[in-house]
Amino acid sequence: MPGSPRRILIGEEAIHRRVAELAARISSDYAAVEELFMVGVLRGSYIFLADLSRALKIPRRIDFIALSSYGKGAVSGAVRLIMDVRTDITQRHVLIVEDIVDTGHTLDYLLRLFRARKPASLKTCTLLRKAGTMQVQVPVDYVGFDIPDVWTVGYGLDFADKFRALPYIAQLSSDECETL
Ligand code: 5GP
Ligand code: MG
Ligand code: MG
Repeated sequence: MPGSPRRILIGEEAIHRRVAELAARISSDYAAVEELFMVGVLRGSYIFLADLSRALKIPRRIDFIALSSYGKGAVSGAVRLIMDVRTDITQRHVLIVEDIVDTGHTLDYLLRLFRARKPASLKTCTLLRKAGTMQVQVPVDYVGFDIPDVWTVGYGLDFADKFRALPYIAQLSSDECETL
């Protein structure tokens, strides 16, 4: 298809296998808990959250939060809350679901925000984690794949709002960024 990224990093089958593994681990870790409260970070995590939540064997509730992502000219590490969750997370078992951890600033901001609300427990899950780019050390409890420092698209992740619906994860090269 013209305009599709050329280099596939993680294929559809591998993603589905890994999501099933993560779901099995999370289901067993939270087996004794009354209800898991999953918070998807919009927009990149929406497909991962949909698949992960459906593969769980435990009671769960879903909510979303939206944060500004860094763009051209933005101060590195500046995170802004765009839309908060609609539920009081106090005393809930919260699992933050992210698409990708890069510098760690987004997850760091979220953990501080949520800790102040006194949840019963607070853990983090990300589909992807970039190697060697973390600027703040954030604890990630569940990681789908560790990947190199490249721009990834597909399975919810975008470049300029394109490619989110690709069933696989692809690497976008800098010349593709310019021409697509
Ligand atoms: P942070 O640097 O705060 O850990 O990550 C900020 C956000 O930037 C991520 O949640 C994600 O939305 C976006 N991001 C970082 N790296 C990539 C990437 O390779 N591809 C895409 N599509 N988004 C990314
Ligand atoms: Mg994100
Ligand atoms: Mg984005």
